Amino acid sequence: MPTMPRTEAPQPSPPEDLWVKCPGCREIAFRKEVERNLNVCLKCGYHHRLTVEQRLAITADRGSWRELYPGLAGGDPLEFRDSKAYPERLMQARGASGRGDAAVIGTCRIEGRPVALGVMDFNFMGGSMGIVVGEKMARLFVHARARRVAAVVFSASGGARMQEGALSLMQMAKVSSAIARLRDARVPYISVCCDPTTGGVAASFAMLGDLNLAEPGALIGFAGRRVIEQTINQRLPEDFQKAEFLLAHGMLDAIVPRHQMRQTLAHLLSILRPRR
Ligand SMILES: [Zn+2]
Repeated sequence: MPTMPRTEAPQPSPPEDLWVKCPGCREIAFRKEVERNLNVCLKCGYHHRLTVEQRLAITADRGSWRELYPGLAGGDPLEFRDSKAYPERLMQARGASGRGDAAVIGTCRIEGRPVALGVMDFNFMGGSMGIVVGEKMARLFVHARARRVAAVVFSASGGARMQEGALSLMQMAKVSSAIARLRDARVPYISVCCDPTTGGVAASFAMLGDLNLAEPGALIGFAGRRVIEQTINQRLPEDFQKAEFLLAHGMLDAIVPRHQMRQTLAHLLSILRPRR
């Protein structure tokens, strides 16, 4: 029987690598083109989620980023197991992302202004906050206070990490008190809620900025829509927990489109200078 000859020609990328379907308008667009537009849909303005690397590239001045505590990684304090053991989940996430946990912190400049910057990684176990994310965020605010540079955090998280149980919930208090000390020292903190910012992250540092900003369309809230609807036995408005709804109800200071984020942060940082 004849067999097909083996070819060494490179396989074409699967179509999902080349094209991206917009959840906003359902149009299919050329991925490169969307990426060139900062991952904002050219048709409807939908803001696609960014990786940490993409966020840093469009936020920090070129060459200015210095990561702090990159090696910080946690263990499995509760020996937690669901359908998989927690260490196995961690290992997979670390392999896929190349980082120890769901946040990076560091220092950089934004249009020349020095900041302590934190960016959450939603691709790493849903950006969930366990001991390491909490510790990194707390250290970010400690660093900002010691160096008297403003702190900026881009949040994207499903909330506390259930695999670390109460130890995850404790992070909310720990990070919040680091922010309180930063505030006492009169060093500013700007929070940017990205899609999604929910649970224990929304209920702690993401909503504790001197200014709380958001990207357009970001989902922001504590409990999920279904949980609330079933609890209060009422239907919620369609745009409930969207950034626009929160802004209209006084929970946010501004919604900033991605194309304006850098210059907006730089402008705000020029006004909110740490008091000497
Ligand atoms: Zn679109």
